[in-house]
Amino acid sequence: MPLPQCDTPPTPQETADLRERYRRERERRVRPEGPGQYRSTSAEFGYFAADPYAGEPADREPVRDVVDVAIVGGGFGGILAGARLRQQGVANIRVVEKGGDFGGTWYWNRYPGIHCDIESHVYLPLLDETGYVPEWKYAPGEEIRRHAVRTAEQFDLYEDALFSTAVTSLTWDESTQQWCVTTDRGDAFRATYVITATGTLSEPKLPGIPGIETYRGHTFHTSRWDYAYTGGSPEGGMTGLAGKRVGVVGTGATGVQVIPLLAEDAGHLYVFQRTPSSVDVRGQRRMSPQEVGAERPGWATARRENFLRIVSGEDAGPDLVADRWTESAALLEKLLPSFRRDGEPDFEAAYEAADHAAMNGIRARVTAEVTDPVTAAALQPWYRYACKRPTFSDTYLPAFNRADVTLVDTADSHGIERMTERGVVVGGVEYEVDCLVFATGFSVGVSGVTSGKLPVSGRDGVQLLAARAQRGPRSLHGFTSNGFPNLIQMGSMQNASSVNFTNILDEQAVHAAALVAAAQERDAVVEPTPEAEDAWIRVCAQGAPDHEWFHAECTPGYYNREGRGRPNGPTAYPHGAVAFHDLLRRWRKENIDEALRPRATTPVVGRP
Ligand code: NDP
Repeated sequence: MPLPQCDTPPTPQETADLRERYRRERERRVRPEGPGQYRSTSAEFGYFAADPYAGEPADREPVRDVVDVAIVGGGFGGILAGARLRQQGVANIRVVEKGGDFGGTWYWNRYPGIHCDIESHVYLPLLDETGYVPEWKYAPGEEIRRHAVRTAEQFDLYEDALFSTAVTSLTWDESTQQWCVTTDRGDAFRATYVITATGTLSEPKLPGIPGIETYRGHTFHTSRWDYAYTGGSPEGGMTGLAGKRVGVVGTGATGVQVIPLLAEDAGHLYVFQRTPSSVDVRGQRRMSPQEVGAERPGWATARRENFLRIVSGEDAGPDLVADRWTESAALLEKLLPSFRRDGEPDFEAAYEAADHAAMNGIRARVTAEVTDPVTAAALQPWYRYACKRPTFSDTYLPAFNRADVTLVDTADSHGIERMTERGVVVGGVEYEVDCLVFATGFSVGVSGVTSGKLPVSGRDGVQLLAARAQRGPRSLHGFTSNGFPNLIQMGSMQNASSVNFTNILDEQAVHAAALVAAAQERDAVVEPTPEAEDAWIRVCAQGAPDHEWFHAECTPGYYNREGRGRPNGPTAYPHGAVAFHDLLRRWRKENIDEALRPRATTPVVGRP
């Protein structure tokens, strides 16, 4: 099929052909069980859930005291909430974290090759405040983890933090106007405010492959890398894999980063692929502080805002980051003027053309980089750009030119058929492996609160999940809900998101800290009225773009509930992150009292 050039609109026939090809490829992969095809890593596979970095947690006495703010989760969400609370002068903060230290995603994920594919100068938060300037355009995971630790130290968040500890319940006590927080280490303490920052991709998952439990070789999930077995470090050098047959399941953003290093160190590597990722140019390089203008006050905040505006399709001035994320957004702007109906640009048609042009470029890159034509054909992604998380690598595709790497395409059987004691079966062929690595991702949007693992009991004993099941999600700006006083939730419900998620989290943290500070100042409780929630739901519902058809036609993945589509509804603010952040800033200035009500009784304060 001829490929349209990047700046030439495709003909109607080319568009029709691509749509048909996408439909057929989708059918090869979609499974009737949808999200039910996965299983948790924590049940029979308990060892997957262990913490390989902290070892057995040291014994400690349970805490029974009182804090101003309890933050559930010590990833960037929790760290940012803590930092922004400190800036507001809040003294008494306790972070409770399952891992052995701060870092969240970057604590758990330490696999070889780990980097962030969002530019480090916009991804790493609080660079203006910490004075830290990353050395590389794309930061390695360990640098990001250390930045999390640095930030937590600078804002005194280690004081009072509880590590290797999971919160097991949050219960509102009307008599004291405080939350009772219990944990799996026997703690039972009180907090006037609770901020939940439990992440959206934190629960590793495994495919429910028949026979998975019978496999006798060594196995682990990428988010619990077993360096004791493989040797080496995130830079590679896995001497433990020399001469071994290694399999890896999954070719998403994680697989694309880890596979080139496994290819170097394994005796033979089998890559079990169901859907190929789109693998675009990465362009890793060192960047000097001068190049990013780090001598100017506020340089990092300005750069981050520039990136957010460009990827959101807003006016931003010159493109400071200039990588494949921002260039993909610019492609649409370039094509938009060619698609006019009645004098107005036809956004959907231009969007589809830009999408086709971007994907054709990505498919052409596979052909150029991979020498074996059968392997190259299997590595070409046939779906729209926005259907799956794009990836970026300059070493992934060439890894398939090695004689000791075999790509096993599992699409015709909708994934791996079954597993045996010795290995993996695809198309009736058994591939024996000594070690099998699962790069199979995470349960999405399942934080402690939304999974039910962390029961939240509000005023009059109303359970948060039960209330949501009955009345649908209700909130003001996604943060606070009636019946759950002084509970502030960070996450992705009824607010706006973007690909640079630490930026989103930081805006949420600023907002959460402002709510706490305003409530403290006015001796009030943070709790919106049902009317304020109704009004916010109307805002989310009105003008929501109809994306249901788009996701329903996409190849299956976690973006569309494994092919089931993503229903429209008041689940997100419809006008994007830039507008949402502006709205929050204005609201904090003019209307913050809308979320506050006088406190009923004087709470217990200080430490007993
Ligand atoms: P994903 O969920 O994106 O990928 C899971 C992989 O496992 C897919 O390739 C999937 O195939 C495959 N798979 C699942 N079941 C089977 C099966 N039965 N047989 C064969 N293959 C199977 O997880 P990742 O960990 O790669 O990424 C998760 C998210 O984490 C990313 O989307 C991104 O948001 C984030 N991330 C960010 C990075 C960054 O640099 N910023 C780096 C890494 C991750 P299929 O696609 O067909 O379902």
